[in-house]
Amino acid sequence: HHTPTTDTSSALLRTLESVFGYSEFRPGQQAVMEAICSGRDTLVLMPTGAGKSLCYQLPALVMKRLVLVISPLISLMKDQVDSLQNMGIKAAALYGDIPREEQSEILRSAHQGELELLYVSPERLVRGHFIERIEDLPLAFIAVDEAHCISQWGHDFRPDYAALGQVKEQYPHLPIMALTATADAATQRDIVRRLNFDNPLLHAGSFDRPNIRYTLEDKYRPLKQLLDYLNERRGQSGIIYCGSRARCEQVSEKLRQHQINSAVYHAGLEPTVRHGVQDKFQRDEVEVVVATVAFGMGINKSNVRFVVHYDMPKNIESYYQETGRAGRDGLPAEALMLHDPADMQRLLGFIANVENPEQRQIESHKLNAMSAFCEALTCRRQVLLNYFDEPANQACGNCDVCLNPPQLYDGLTDAQMALSCVFRADQRHTAHHIADVLRGSENEKVKRLAHDQLSTYGIGKHQSHDQWLSVIRQLIHRGLVRQDITHHGALVLTEAARPVLRNEQTLELAVPRVRVKDKRSLQLG
Ligand code: ADP
Ligand code: ZN
Repeated sequence: HHTPTTDTSSALLRTLESVFGYSEFRPGQQAVMEAICSGRDTLVLMPTGAGKSLCYQLPALVMKRLVLVISPLISLMKDQVDSLQNMGIKAAALYGDIPREEQSEILRSAHQGELELLYVSPERLVRGHFIERIEDLPLAFIAVDEAHCISQWGHDFRPDYAALGQVKEQYPHLPIMALTATADAATQRDIVRRLNFDNPLLHAGSFDRPNIRYTLEDKYRPLKQLLDYLNERRGQSGIIYCGSRARCEQVSEKLRQHQINSAVYHAGLEPTVRHGVQDKFQRDEVEVVVATVAFGMGINKSNVRFVVHYDMPKNIESYYQETGRAGRDGLPAEALMLHDPADMQRLLGFIANVENPEQRQIESHKLNAMSAFCEALTCRRQVLLNYFDEPANQACGNCDVCLNPPQLYDGLTDAQMALSCVFRADQRHTAHHIADVLRGSENEKVKRLAHDQLSTYGIGKHQSHDQWLSVIRQLIHRGLVRQDITHHGALVLTEAARPVLRNEQTLELAVPRVRVKDKRSLQLG
C-alpha cells in the first residue's frame, strides 16, 4: 500500500468543509478514509450515529472514481441517495423494484464515469452476473455496509452477502471497506475472513453511549409499569419494543385509552400506514411508537429520549442496536427493559424453529448472553462493552446497577411463607391470589374460597403486593415453584421446595427492582 500523501489528507479535509460543511473529522474517520484512499482494506466498527457513511462518501469525491456501496436497507439507501443528490453529489441506487430501463440507464452512467456513488442491494448484487461485470466499472473501492450480515456469527445473517466473498478472489487489488455498528470479536474475525481481507486496517470506535442510562426493572404488571413510566415522560419522544405484533396492538390500545399520543408499527401493517407512522414520529407529531423490531432501521431521529423493551430481545446486539436509537443528539436518554425470565421460554421457542443446527446453536448462545446480562449484578454498561470486546473495568455510574445496587437479603422466611401459602391454597391459584392471601386481603375471591381461614392468611402484611409478586417470581426462577400454564398459571410446588419448607437450606432473595418514588417502602425486615 501507499502511505497517504499530504495531498490526500488535505483534499479530504477540504472536501469535508466545502461539500459537507463540517469543520473537523469525528474520531476515526480520517484514519479510515486515508487507509482506503491508499488502497488498504478497512474494517470500520463504529456505533450508530458516529458517522460511518461519511467514511466512504467523502473518499468517493476525493478519489474521483466510483464507489460501490452494498447496503441491505433499501429505505436507508434511498435516504442517502436523496441527501447526496441534494448536495450535488452524483449518486444512484440499484435494487429489485427499480424498472429495468432505469436500471440500464443507471448502469450506463456508472460505466461512463458519471456517477460518484452507486448503492446496490445484496439481492441485486447476486443477480445477473453483477460481480463478474464490476471490473467494467471505474471503481475506487467497494463499501460493505452492515457488514455483520455476511457472518453467521452476526445477528442478522443474510445469505446474499456471501457472494461478496468472491470479490477479492476475482479482483485482488480492489480495496474493500466493511462497516458495522454491532459485531463481537468472533463476528469481526469472520467478516475479515469471509471478505478475504489482506492486512486490513481495523478501526474500532468505542461502543459506549455514555448519555444512555440503562435500567432493568422486574416485570410485575407491565402495562401499569409502562403507563407510570410514560406519564412521567409526557411530551417526550420514545419507542416501545414488544416481542410480537399482538403484544404491540395490546399495548398500543392501552396507551390510546390513556390519551398517550402513540402509534403502532409492525410488519403486518400496510406499507402506507407504516410510512405514515414513521413520518409522524420523525416530525414529532407522534410521541411514542409501539413497535416490533421492524421499526427503527432507517430512522434518523436524534431526539428520541427513551427506548423501552417491554419484552426481552433475543440477543445483546439487538438490544444494543435498539437502545442505541435513543439519545443520538448526545443529551441524556434512557433505555428501560421490563424483565421477566419467563420471556426466555418464548425466545427459546423461536430458536427451536431455526432449521440450521449450527445457526440454532449460535442463537441460543446469544440468548444466554442476553439472559446473563439481565441477571447480572454488575454494571450494565460494563457487561455490554465487554460483550463487544471493549474492556471496561470501571462501573459507569449511569445504570440501574450502579445507581441502585441490588440488595440481597435472607429470604428464607419469605420463601417459606409463600410456599406454604401455595400449598395450603391447594396449588390451584395464581401469584396474585397468593399475594392477596398473604397480605390478608378481604376481596371477594378470598372470601368465597374461605382462604381467610387459612393459617397463612395475613402473615405477609409486612410487604406490599408487588413485593410478594417479586418473591414468588424469584421462587419460580429458582425452580421451587412452577406455573401451570394449562391452569391459568396456577402455582405448583416442585420437589426443590421441600428442603426450604423444612428449614434445611438457606435462601437469599433480591430486593425487587422497582422504580419507587418512596424508597422507604422497599426496606425489608
Ligand atoms: P452512522 O452510519 O454511523 O449511524 P451517519 O453516517 O448516519 O452515522 O452519521 C450520523 C450523523 O453525523 C449524520 O447526520 C452525519 O452527517 C453526521 N456527521 C458525520 N460525520 C461528521 C463530522 N465529521 N462532523 C459533523 N457531523 C458529522
Ligand atoms: Zn453502570
